[in-house]
Amino acid sequence: MTHLGELLKARIERDGPISLHDYMEMALSHPKHGYYARQSPFGAAGDFITAPETSQMFGELIGLWAVDVWAKLGHPGKVYFLELGPGNGTLMRDALRSARLVPEFLAAAEIHLIETSARLKERQAETLDDHDIHWHDELPDLAGAPVILIANEFFDALPIHQYSRQSGTWFERMVSNRDGKFSYQLADAPASITSAPPAEDGDILELCPTGDRMVEEISKLIFREGGAALIIDYGATETLLGDSFQAMKRHEYADPLASPGEADLTTHVRFSRLREIALSYGITVQGPTPQGRFLERLGIEARHHQLKKNANEAQRKNLDAQLKRLVSSSEMGTLFKVMALSHNTSVATEGFGS
Ligand code: SAH
Repeated sequence: MTHLGELLKARIERDGPISLHDYMEMALSHPKHGYYARQSPFGAAGDFITAPETSQMFGELIGLWAVDVWAKLGHPGKVYFLELGPGNGTLMRDALRSARLVPEFLAAAEIHLIETSARLKERQAETLDDHDIHWHDELPDLAGAPVILIANEFFDALPIHQYSRQSGTWFERMVSNRDGKFSYQLADAPASITSAPPAEDGDILELCPTGDRMVEEISKLIFREGGAALIIDYGATETLLGDSFQAMKRHEYADPLASPGEADLTTHVRFSRLREIALSYGITVQGPTPQGRFLERLGIEARHHQLKKNANEAQRKNLDAQLKRLVSSSEMGTLFKVMALSHNTSVATEGFGS
């Protein structure tokens, strides 16, 4: 049993079964023993590789996307450039490198990172040591300039509640301790769910209150100050039902209840729900569009070609593999989706089909 497992067990003994939401939140974000407090979850030596850790091309193209939004906003003299859950800080570093092509953007951009893990904040400070950075634990209420916000694999890491439909009623799925092992158990009393899609007995519903709240806050901020947000994550465009709770440990799928704190836990992002929330705040939504198509529209082929020109044989092979990983539908190209929110119809269109 992991250290965090012992803490969870003690809590269950004291309070009874806990929601999957609380299990996931503690397993990922416990300040000392949670997954994100660990040394290095991302990258080849960690448990999973995100797009910015796969290739510099990813962050560079997102940087150019941000510059394009800034230009369409009318080249404001100040812009807030935000990232949610920046991990190692790699995406922001690569984005700022490609944005050097437009020094006026860099001069205008005030960088804000939203990160809860103290260890990852340190890591981000090392990666971005030649930039001025403002850190926050929560989305800050900024004012006086438009906002450009990036969130890659952020929403999939937020804790969810799961409900199971039995005899026409939703019951929350709880985590209990059975003979020293964590297992699922339905709550005794029915849950009161106000907005569920049509469902049948046996269906699973996942709700992510933090994700909903984040999109509400982003929408309000962008509506008020102007600007755009880019949300990149994996999940189906429309599906709302189904159990998508999963664990990754050393690049393999694992049992999410087996070793809390030692495996990365994620769920699929429900894009249609986030879209509905943003629309209800008067926001313009682009996508979701598949990541592969988005990167192709931003010119990943040309960037790949350019990088290969100065590369040796091994590097060229590596660049080909990176391109395939990011855009191929057998890898990240289709499962991952990109959705943009903006305050009007024309600022965040780059990368999305007409
Ligand atoms: N965007 C990075 C890392 C994704 S992992 C990449 O693509 O490589 C998720 C990130 O979100 C981590 O940095 C984690 O510490 C952070 N995080 C998770 N929950 C958070 C919350 N509620 N508020 C702020 N950051 C959070």
